[in-house]
Amino acid sequence: MSPEKDNIGTVYLVGAGPGDPDLVTVKGQRLLRECDVVVYDHLIPDELIVALPERVRRIYVGKQAGHHSLPQDKLNELLARLAGDGKDVVRLKGGDPFVFGRGAEEAQYLKDRNIPFEVVPGITSGMAAAAYAGVPCTDRRVSSYVTFLTGHKAVEKKYTTVPWEWLAKAQNGTLIIYMGVKELKNNVTRLLDGGMSPDTPVIGIERGTMSTQRTINATLSQIVTKATEANLKPPSLFVVGEAAKFHEQLDWLSGRPLSNMRVMVTRPADQAGTLYADLRSLGAEVLAYPTIATEASPDRSAWSRVKDLKADERWLVFTSENGVRYFLEQWQEVVGDFRKLGDYKIASVGTGTASALDRYGFKADFVPSVATTAELAEQLTECFDIQGATVVRVRGDLADDRVEKRLKSVGASVVPLQVYKTLKVAWTAVAKEKLFKHPPHVIMFTSGSSADGFAANLSDDERERVAAEAVILSIGPITSKIIESHGLKVSLEAGKHNIPAMIEELLEYSQSKSVR
Ligand code: SAH
Repeated sequence: MSPEKDNIGTVYLVGAGPGDPDLVTVKGQRLLRECDVVVYDHLIPDELIVALPERVRRIYVGKQAGHHSLPQDKLNELLARLAGDGKDVVRLKGGDPFVFGRGAEEAQYLKDRNIPFEVVPGITSGMAAAAYAGVPCTDRRVSSYVTFLTGHKAVEKKYTTVPWEWLAKAQNGTLIIYMGVKELKNNVTRLLDGGMSPDTPVIGIERGTMSTQRTINATLSQIVTKATEANLKPPSLFVVGEAAKFHEQLDWLSGRPLSNMRVMVTRPADQAGTLYADLRSLGAEVLAYPTIATEASPDRSAWSRVKDLKADERWLVFTSENGVRYFLEQWQEVVGDFRKLGDYKIASVGTGTASALDRYGFKADFVPSVATTAELAEQLTECFDIQGATVVRVRGDLADDRVEKRLKSVGASVVPLQVYKTLKVAWTAVAKEKLFKHPPHVIMFTSGSSADGFAANLSDDERERVAAEAVILSIGPITSKIIESHGLKVSLEAGKHNIPAMIEELLEYSQSKSVR
């Protein structure tokens, strides 16, 4: 690359998929992790944004209450300016960037200014929403082609004219109408006037692929009344044609145990991926509001002690999944050879931390029957003779020092080894607005620090608005105490202090509600 070119970043026009955050492509996800800036729209799943590494700048250009989205010319300028400053930019767009996404306009603007760009396709909502409704776009028995079209009025000069009357005459295919809520009546009239059978099956899909997806089944002659009665709102699309009938047989999404439940997750996003996905697969709508994030913060002098440790009896104590991850990363940097870990016995506070170890191929020698730091220290001293042993206590900056104190009291030599620190996450005004508009039914706290972060992000009044109607689910008694210190009432507490037990609790709660 020439030196000049080094100073220009690349703009990646990336499709985020239709709404379910798991439907972003692998390439898109890699670019999101590697880029400098993400410029994103209204319909982008929150989870993709909150999971970005801390260093990635986020610029929202979608609609906000009382404000329009950033006009296209300003947006183009923004992309060019960022790339001109040497930033690699992900321009994240709903669905696919080249399907009703104005991606080509942005690409042209960049091309004219010699700014490098790439296009990363996404799953367009027309295909995805249909699939999540059990509707194939084509089927060799009933539909041999599929047409994506806009229901927007051509008069607004945003789109060229759709040949409705001509499409009405075409048989044996599927029409997928985007942006069609407002003009539904006019467009249906044109199809009917053009000769399409009033009995043609139609399905309206609102918020396709999201946990809140709704579908409306009708015929062409009924769809306007039914969509109006159901108050179908954007983002919605309509699938017209015999293929829509498959919904009756192939609907696979409805009736999940946590359907209609909005669950707020305050856990750090980098550890919450599985929890988000588990909740979603049970049908819950996930409100991803991490209140804390973590960052590597190695204690160099403690590491140099660990590096040269000579003791015969050695223990490593882990009390969080983060501790495991950051410790192993730093071990590789400082010590290098994982085989040297064979000199250590390993204690883990609970099953979550033990499975984190397991993922890297390490088995914990000891896990206490109750997952708290106090019990860990107590039971470890009961089960093992650790007098004279050297214990490396792996920790974050906020961990308590019970382990250190208790183990020292029985004659162990303890090396506190900080490997990470905790940062507060401040919610944006847009994120808060969304929360007030659709407050959670359940709020999950997996640690005291996430409860502190929740309280720090909201004023008393705002806290009331968010939590007044919500059931608060805590991972265990220590976290519950901290939650209650903020004036919030804990209604559910996991018997075993881990996330699977919290999900069990949630399932029982939702069952008891539906039985009542
Ligand atoms: N580029 C996007 C489309 C943007 S136009 C894509 O490829 O999907 C916006 C329109 O897309 C909305 O008016 C609606 O018709 C449709 N749409 C986007 N997301 C949707 C969703 N989750 N469910 C149903 N329709 C959706």
